[in-house]
Amino acid sequence: MVVGSANADLLARTAVHPAPGETVLGRDLAVLPGGKGANQAVAAARLGARVAFVGAVGDDEFADAATSGLREAGVDLERLVVVPGGTGVAVVTVAADGENSIVVIPGANASVGPDVVRRHADLLATADVVVLQGEIPRAGIEAAAQLAGGRVVMNLAPVIDVEPGVLRRADPLVVNEHEAHGALGLLESGGVNLGGVTDGDVTDDAVVARLRAAGVPSVVLTRGAHGALAAAADLDDEVVAVPAPHVEAVDTTGAGDAFVGALAAELARGSGLVDAARVAVRVGAFAVRGPGAQPSYPWAGDDLP
Ligand code: ADP
Repeated sequence: MVVGSANADLLARTAVHPAPGETVLGRDLAVLPGGKGANQAVAAARLGARVAFVGAVGDDEFADAATSGLREAGVDLERLVVVPGGTGVAVVTVAADGENSIVVIPGANASVGPDVVRRHADLLATADVVVLQGEIPRAGIEAAAQLAGGRVVMNLAPVIDVEPGVLRRADPLVVNEHEAHGALGLLESGGVNLGGVTDGDVTDDAVVARLRAAGVPSVVLTRGAHGALAAAADLDDEVVAVPAPHVEAVDTTGAGDAFVGALAAELARGSGLVDAARVAVRVGAFAVRGPGAQPSYPWAGDDLP
């Protein structure tokens, strides 16, 4: 079960980004399904997991675009809420050098608060794995973590100031290097410091160990081309390095979401954390070989690198 965001991504390709006050000509516009929740649900479903999505879209023309990938992947959308107003939209400009500038308008995603989430207490209680991210209101995330009967996979992306108890329910907490520092700041300061840890150069291994020491049941830290680190009590708290296969990276958009979806699917299948991470790094690497987020994700049976 994924509780999270669904967006329509409006992607404009330009030679250079417009400076403030400037207008530039774009090459083309693509309207693609996105949002971290939807991306992760699609990644898991494409790999064969049975996935239900709890989220919201608006009653506008972008709702179809936001949910097209979910429908194609066979995600259960019975619980999708349609609210008056706009669907979440990300306006992305991609310059010739590959750099992105992004404006995100949460739209309907802002309505996925505790009231909407509590309506799905039945499924939250029985789902093997509940996957959460930081793109819906914090109270919605907190309600989902509280009502989850199974394993909670918490991807603190973007870093928002959730109640630290949510991170102590995460098994695993999945973060990239930047988010790991934010999560640690949150835990070590008791929930107010989003600035991250400030005590000099902390290695990724040390950040993982400190997240565990701060009470997170298990931690997976993703490190781009370097793969991931995993730590848990049943791994004797050794920080296990899981290297990513070497691939030609075309577009890293949504690679982290491919990783999280694959990890959740593997955990739901009964794999251990390290084995699940070994699959997830390969799925993440598959995703960077193709353009876009959801369109670049593998289906069950595709050859992984
Ligand atoms: P995020 O996009 O959330 O910052 P990462 O950059 O850590 O996440 O990437 C997530 C996963 O995607 C990595 O653990 C790895 O498996 C895969 N990945 C990302 N970039 C590359 C790359 N250049 N080569 C191979 N795999 C990659």
